[in-house]
Amino acid sequence: MLTITRPDDWHLHVRDGKAMQALDYRSRIQAAVPAGSRFTPLMTLYLTDRTTPEEVLNAKAAGIVAFKLYPAGATTNSDSGVTDLNKPIEALKAMADSGVLLLVHGEVTDADVDMFDREAVFIQRKLAEFVAGAPANVAATITPQHMLMNRNSLFVGGLRPHNYCLPILKREKHREAVMAAATSGSPKFFLGTDSAPHPKHAKESACGCAGMFSAPVAMGIYATAFEQAGALDKLEGFASFHGPDFYGLPRNTGSLTLVRRPQRVPASYAFGDSEVVPMWAGLEVPWSVAE
Ligand SMILES: [Zn+2]
Repeated sequence: MLTITRPDDWHLHVRDGKAMQALDYRSRIQAAVPAGSRFTPLMTLYLTDRTTPEEVLNAKAAGIVAFKLYPAGATTNSDSGVTDLNKPIEALKAMADSGVLLLVHGEVTDADVDMFDREAVFIQRKLAEFVAGAPANVAATITPQHMLMNRNSLFVGGLRPHNYCLPILKREKHREAVMAAATSGSPKFFLGTDSAPHPKHAKESACGCAGMFSAPVAMGIYATAFEQAGALDKLEGFASFHGPDFYGLPRNTGSLTLVRRPQRVPASYAFGDSEVVPMWAGLEVPWSVAE
């Protein structure tokens, strides 16, 4: 049994209708939070080539914590993303001056770059100096799938669309590096599932979309990963301390207890008028969240 301070998820996708405005969306999320839950959504906006410094300041005043940079076309719904980092440069300066965070989906989108090398090339071409010098204000969230799965999981006995996410799963040596970073105890790494539900038919399709849905089972899977690394004592920092410390927000009060009791991940969950297949559907996770 392991009791930790109540964790946060710093990278999460929820779902709503097609068009959305961040503040309306926040109100609808808050209205959907069950009574007794203290879930607080922190909203981000989508950085585009045309984001202005005025929009940054208005967003900050409205309680928006960050802008997300998606290179145009990098992943689901990123077609209006940034085509050239110089285009929103004034907005980026305004963010730096006013303390609004920049969240980066770090992949290039050029068709001539190998799919499995798109993160590595992004870092070489666009962020080399930045990351090399990375001071304390640069950090990364880490998903459960990038800790425990490598690219072979995309092809075990056939094509596995539910294991397709972006950035894509990588070679085993890179998975090991991600695992080592997450379990190192460094405050530069913290929990962000990138859990992104898509209806089953949109994944099991001739052109299936990217994203893995891990939210209901993520804490059990993270505990499994930390146990594998012999680092269960580092789970609380990763899950509950490093994120709020980085964002300059108070750590949660309250706790969450994990027990080493196996749970079978459901084959699917209801999802609107469809269903969603979770990460590790049908498999057993050795850890569960205590009632
Ligand atoms: Zn994401």
